[in-house]
Amino acid sequence: MKVLFLAHTDDGGSLGKAASEALGAAKALGGDLTVGLYGAEVQAAADSIAACGAGKFLGVAGAEFATARYGSDAAACVALAKAAGADLIVMPATSRASRVAAGVAQRLGAAIDTRLTGLALDGGKVVATRWFYRQRMVGKIERDARPWLVTVDTGCFEAVSAPGSASVEMLSVTPATRTQVTGIKSPAADAQTIRPEAKMLLVAGAGWGKSQPDGQKHLDEASQLILSLLAATQCSLGSSKSLVDQSGDGGALPFLTHMHQVGQTGSTPRHQKGLATCCHGEEPHVVGWRFIGERRAINLDASCGWAQGKADVLYVADAFAVVNKVVELLK
Ligand SMILES: Cc1cc2nc3c(=O)[nH]c(=O)nc-3n(C[C@H](O)[C@H](O)[C@H](O)COP(=O)(O)OP(=O)(O)OC[C@H]3O[C@@H](n4cnc5c(N)ncnc54)[C@H](O)[C@@H]3O)c2cc1C
Repeated sequence: MKVLFLAHTDDGGSLGKAASEALGAAKALGGDLTVGLYGAEVQAAADSIAACGAGKFLGVAGAEFATARYGSDAAACVALAKAAGADLIVMPATSRASRVAAGVAQRLGAAIDTRLTGLALDGGKVVATRWFYRQRMVGKIERDARPWLVTVDTGCFEAVSAPGSASVEMLSVTPATRTQVTGIKSPAADAQTIRPEAKMLLVAGAGWGKSQPDGQKHLDEASQLILSLLAATQCSLGSSKSLVDQSGDGGALPFLTHMHQVGQTGSTPRHQKGLATCCHGEEPHVVGWRFIGERRAINLDASCGWAQGKADVLYVADAFAVVNKVVELLK
């Protein structure tokens, strides 16, 4: 079986974590491995995995491949896949790769499955694992169609680091694209509160915006406490549907968006630990916690959802007081 590991380099020209993990997934299949890289430059990335066991390194490089753009990325991927002639193409499920994966598969006449959490050989057949229906059901997929393009999720495979000196065969690709990348606008680093790489996830629930025992709402204090805990721990911020819906209406906490929502209709983040605060722990929310290793919650209500077997530890306490104390101790 011919396997192509196909990935873009990151802004600094190296191979990102997601890509190194996708290489781990491709390599574990034990086939005839080719590496295909695209980006502004690919040599440094190729050198970082030179000893990974690949028989061939292919590259597409140049200024026009520096940033994500559908036309150039898709053209690079198609050229690399055609040159490799692989049966199985493994890409990381980064936003940049995911954006073009379906189009690349269509141009290659390949089958495609995305966001796999497992990829293994079973009785000589490649078996892919992925979750369905917002992570409620796990499915195993086999396909006869070749080529078969897959993207694999982060946090599921062992990253490969195998430095050395790689000899990269460069392909010449001239993308037909009318789109010009004129720059990138992104929020300031401290305004970015969704941090997939963080060890801990802090979830803020609707309780932060509710009347407290003194009969008053304390939204400013809630904002300040949550942001202080984020600053002190550099953890990632998630929220419940109730709270992000209120925030969207101009109420509650202004730094929350629907991107923060964790749950059945939100995201399913992966972090080592999670702390839910002022959140009831209802099933449509907790289903988004499927990949959180250690779960803790703070709630005034001793019979909230977290107490029904959904958390490892429940602190029956006032989250305002607990977070205040924790931030004080961390300082
Ligand atoms: C089809 C469907 C899909 C859904 N998808 C999602 C989803 O993706 N994500 C999601 O989050 N929800 C989802 N929901 C909604 C979900 O069922 C809940 O309504 C929602 O999660 C409740 O949010 P909450 O726990 O923050 O608020 P609430 O239920 O209002 O709970 C607030 C909690 O805060 C506690 N509290 C108040 N003050 C304090 C304090 N000072 N200290 C400690 N605790 C305090 C209260 O005791 C209470 O338990 C979905 C629902 C449906 C029907």
